[in-house]
Amino acid sequence: MSRVVVLGGAESGVGAAVLAKVKGQDVFLSDKGQIQEQYVKELEKWNIPFEQGKHSEELLLNADEVVKSPGIPSDVPMVQKIREKGIRIVSEIEFASRYDRAKKICVTGSNGKTTTTSLIYFLLKNAGLNVGLGGNIGKSYAYQVATESFDYYVLEISSFQLDDVYDFHPDIAIITNITPDHLDRYGYKMENYVNAKFNITRNLTKDDCFIFDSDDEITVGHLSKIVLRCKMLPFTQKKEVDEGAFVRNEKMVIRYKEEETDVFLNQLALGGKHNIYNSMAAALAAKVSGIENSVIRNSLATFQGVEHRLEPVLSIKDVLYINDSKATNVDSAWYALECQQRPVVWIVGGKDKGNDYSVLDELVSKKVKAIVCLGVDNKKIHDAFEPLVPKMADALSADEAVQKASEFAQAGDVVLLSPCCASFDLFKNYEDRGEQFKAAVRKL
Ligand code: ADP
Repeated sequence: MSRVVVLGGAESGVGAAVLAKVKGQDVFLSDKGQIQEQYVKELEKWNIPFEQGKHSEELLLNADEVVKSPGIPSDVPMVQKIREKGIRIVSEIEFASRYDRAKKICVTGSNGKTTTTSLIYFLLKNAGLNVGLGGNIGKSYAYQVATESFDYYVLEISSFQLDDVYDFHPDIAIITNITPDHLDRYGYKMENYVNAKFNITRNLTKDDCFIFDSDDEITVGHLSKIVLRCKMLPFTQKKEVDEGAFVRNEKMVIRYKEEETDVFLNQLALGGKHNIYNSMAAALAAKVSGIENSVIRNSLATFQGVEHRLEPVLSIKDVLYINDSKATNVDSAWYALECQQRPVVWIVGGKDKGNDYSVLDELVSKKVKAIVCLGVDNKKIHDAFEPLVPKMADALSADEAVQKASEFAQAGDVVLLSPCCASFDLFKNYEDRGEQFKAAVRKL
């Protein structure tokens, strides 16, 4: 019996511990912080020994293998000690995939992961397949491998989850796009971040597929430096491709194995240029999985979208309020502004991640009539946009922001929360920010 130590007692760590237990291993979980009540209960239910508030060296350094949760950076002292001792460190998805024979469609990228993953899940479900949804969404992959038996998984995988993978092997791998994000965890080197994302492709064989955005210069630039043996399926809005997805005559075209399927762009349920990319990626994955064209068309036309992603909240006096709280970086906010057809009162701000706002200048000048900054420190946003937008205000709560935005807005406008920034200065997380925004709108 080998000894597995799990570092981190949240969704993925507890999932890995449960799986280790189910597989009859000697498992111990350690979390330096406090473990949430729900996870403590889960660990007790499965009779898994654990500690919290500390890492006891004598209980960790005797491990045969360590499963590290993605939230724990690689340079913390305990992880370094484990490494120095020569103990193998793997991620939860690496660990779980050893016990899983299901076909895996795995999605990573800087933006669009959750939307694309959820859309693929919807497509596979509609096709009647026995499919699980996991990774960064909902229940961890490891927990599901321990407790379910699916034929397919659609997994959303963040770059942190890809840091410690070795043999993890998707059947279909997707990189939605790569733009600068989370560089603080990668030594401020874009190259490290790109390499982590591309870890998703490392074990692809000639029977597998790689689906990617060929309009994305960073992705294409990296592809020119590596060799992949799998089938390459690009998606693009700029030209036609022999195999992959592209746009022709206001239709999205999927071309796979010399067969074409198309869907009118205006029939796609999800609006915006970015969602054309997401829909293309999802449709390609569905096509490769053998799903019928009619199911693909229907699913793309009826998908409801995911909360906090360009989510329409309410229309009040003909002002539409949109919650895009998940837009935590500049690129996602760019797409949010790009797809607006009406004058925008923009609620932006939060914890800045070293953003360069200048890429938004053109869109902001064209579309934004007023800005409400929702953050503790709004100086960078004022400096960036004061020359472009005549009306600006500051707010320290969702209520105040919505109130001020509603005063700027007139019939026919949109009030768009698309913050470009992380939420931690004023909110628990982006969901909390989105919920508070929606509650404030409903109070108007
Ligand atoms: P992720 O899981 O990668 O964070 P989401 O699907 O949750 O991606 O979307 C995050 C934010 O990015 C939302 O504001 C959404 O509107 C925007 N977005 C979604 N897809 C894309 C894309 N392909 N390119 C750029 N932004 C996107």
